[in-house]
Parts: sequence; structure tokens; C-alpha cells
Amino acid sequence: MPLRRTDGVILRTYPFRETSKIVVLYSLHFGKLRLVAKGARRPKSIFGGSLEPITHVKALFYHREGRDLHTLSQADIVYSFQGIKEDLGLLGYASAACEVVLRWTPGEAPSPLLFRALLGALREMERKGKGETLLWWFELRAAEILGHRPELGRCVFCGGPLKGTPLAFSPASGGILCPSCASGEEFSLSQGAARLLARLQALPADRAATLSASGRTGEQIRSVLRAFLAYHTEERELRALDFLHKVGEV
Ligand SMILES: [Zn+2]
Repeated sequence: MPLRRTDGVILRTYPFRETSKIVVLYSLHFGKLRLVAKGARRPKSIFGGSLEPITHVKALFYHREGRDLHTLSQADIVYSFQGIKEDLGLLGYASAACEVVLRWTPGEAPSPLLFRALLGALREMERKGKGETLLWWFELRAAEILGHRPELGRCVFCGGPLKGTPLAFSPASGGILCPSCASGEEFSLSQGAARLLARLQALPADRAATLSASGRTGEQIRSVLRAFLAYHTEERELRALDFLHKVGEV
């Protein structure tokens, strides 16, 4: 079995057999990897604290050709995002970003762009203390990288300008509809919400972090993006966001 090396972000871990863990790593060179960390649940495991979700690691693993479970040999922490882990709200949004990657990406298909976008979103969340706006930014970026870029600058149906009200968002059509095409659509959008979505799509993470949405605008963006993701991943709601609702962070 060849030994491989890659950078990656730990998306999640779960117990495996008596003393081991399965680590799901979003890696730079291989995409989403499932790795067995043998003995990782023993008190004196060689992996120490390196296998927490939302940790950037350099991983060394035995690659089993044609299998979807490989063996982790070593994981060295590059960056632990401690500032995120110590803040319940940020932790929820960062977990939601990891969940987007977990659910939306196919198995082992590398995307350096998506890897960098995830790291960029996490870095800005920690630096600016802004969770939700950066989750929105990341969801739009991930959609684009994975080939599902929503049309937010003009009507996705007729190509006309997004003038007047009510605008609407159609998850199935993949974008915003102008007032003439919007009839019967479930997700109405104000001009402000439509403009904010378009800006989030156009800006890099550090600039997106300076944007914010209040009240009604935030609610509209939240429900549009939830529906858009649900449409593509066939999941009702990101579990991490469900958790934030329950603890009253959203
Ligand atoms: Zn139209």
C-alpha cells in the first residue's frame, strides 16, 4: 500500500470498532477521504488532539487502491481554529460549512478550489467573528465550484433585469426570477436581499465578511439558501444549523 501525504480539513469523526475512529477529511489532493485512525480513542493515542473536526492537518495515510476506506498513519496539526471552537455560534456555522462539503461533494474527487474556499471561510470566521455571513458566502462559492452557480444578477427564466417587486428565488430553476416570472414561487425576495446575495457571490471571503443582513433580509436569505442546498443535496436542513436553532443562537 503506498503511503500518501496531503493537507486536509477534518469534517467529522465517528467511533469505529472498540478503540478506533473514522475520520472524514476534505483533502487538497484527493477530495473527501475516509480514514481509519487505529486506536485513536485510547487515552494515549499517537493522534492526541489532532483529530478534532474543523482542524487543518497534514495527513500521512496508506492509500488502498479501489477502496473507500484508507488507514491514517499520522496527522500533524497545521492550524486548530481554536477561536472557532471556543465560540458556540462560530462553531455551529463552521460545522455547517463542513457539513456542506460532507454532503455536497462526491467521494474522492479533488477540488483545490473548494479546499481553499473552505479554509478561507473558516479563517475569516475566526478572524472577523462573523459566522452566518461567511457560511452564506461559502455556500454560494461551493455551489459555483461544484457547477451549480445560481443566477443572481438577472432573471434566470427570461434573462430580464431584476427590477420591481416581488422577486422570487427558484431552487429548481437555479436563480432569481423577475416579478413577471415570479408568480407562484415560494421564496419571495426583497430588492435588498437579492442585492446582498449577488454581492456575496461576487466578493472574496474577507470582503464578504464585512456584509451583514438584518431582520427580514436575513430571514429571506436564510430560507432561500436552505432551500437551494436542500434541492441539491436532498437533505432538509444542515444538522449544525438545526443545533444552533435549538440553542437559540439563530
Ligand atoms: Zn423573468
